[in-house]
Amino acid sequence: MKHPLLIIACITIFSFGCNSTSSDSPGNETPLVVATTSIVADIAKNICSDFAEVKSLMGPGVDPHLYKASHGDIELLTNADVVIYNGLHLEGKMSEILEKLKSSKTVIAVSDGVDHTSIRTINEEADVHDPHIWFDVSIWSEGVKHVSESVQTKYPEYKDQIEKNTNTYLRAIDSVNQECTKLVASLAVEKRILITSHDAFEYFGRSYNFKVRGLQGISTLSESGLKDVTDMVNFIIDNKIKAVFVENSVPQKALRSVINGCKAKGHEVTVGGELFSDALGADRTPEGTYLGMLYFNVETVINGLN
Ligand SMILES: [Zn+2]
Repeated sequence: MKHPLLIIACITIFSFGCNSTSSDSPGNETPLVVATTSIVADIAKNICSDFAEVKSLMGPGVDPHLYKASHGDIELLTNADVVIYNGLHLEGKMSEILEKLKSSKTVIAVSDGVDHTSIRTINEEADVHDPHIWFDVSIWSEGVKHVSESVQTKYPEYKDQIEKNTNTYLRAIDSVNQECTKLVASLAVEKRILITSHDAFEYFGRSYNFKVRGLQGISTLSESGLKDVTDMVNFIIDNKIKAVFVENSVPQKALRSVINGCKAKGHEVTVGGELFSDALGADRTPEGTYLGMLYFNVETVINGLN
């Protein structure tokens, strides 16, 4: 079957490639837009790469929960005209520097554009919320609109262009979501239990009607203990689950001990595949884009559990 995202991926790759290094106003340099994660950078690449240079601090496979800005990153952030980040403490170790930058330049949190009643609260008192909002496309689309409006305010001369790009991007997101929903319908509801290394997929579960369990919490900062592993082993056996899923930005060791624990108790569970959770795949692959990553994850989960 022809991959429905190939065409979109090709268009995206081509549009990324036509980044101009010249500027409309003589003497002015091309605006520099710096995003924290590759998922956030995908927004900027889609809405403003035809007039700005877009850079991402974190590449494929990088865990944003643990990421500390390097000297090079700080230089890049300092030189940036616009900085875009996810927010909700996803970039936990960069909060201070992001806060500081707000006094001197346009700094946009995707999550600031999202209706907060739709965000999962983990601990209200401690202000802990689930930051993995890109896995609910309706929430993420709100965030995309917010980024777009903020960039339009910063560059009114490119308003029409940004608006047009944003609409194209949002339509593509909607279309991939429809493909994903169709794919999910092929998996019986009782088989929809998704087990991963860390709890990045709760929004995914909410969108596509999956029960979700992560071995670690919503941040990879807290490591899983022996009790977490034992509980997960029992859960897998009780629910006769046949596959669990590793993640591209999280070490596999803890989940491997769950698999071994199941085996020791006579239950065979396999790795259903590697999901892209907090970082996109390599550049110039379908999973190197937000749209490709969404479809890949759904396809992998469905194939692994069917
Ligand atoms: Zn995460």
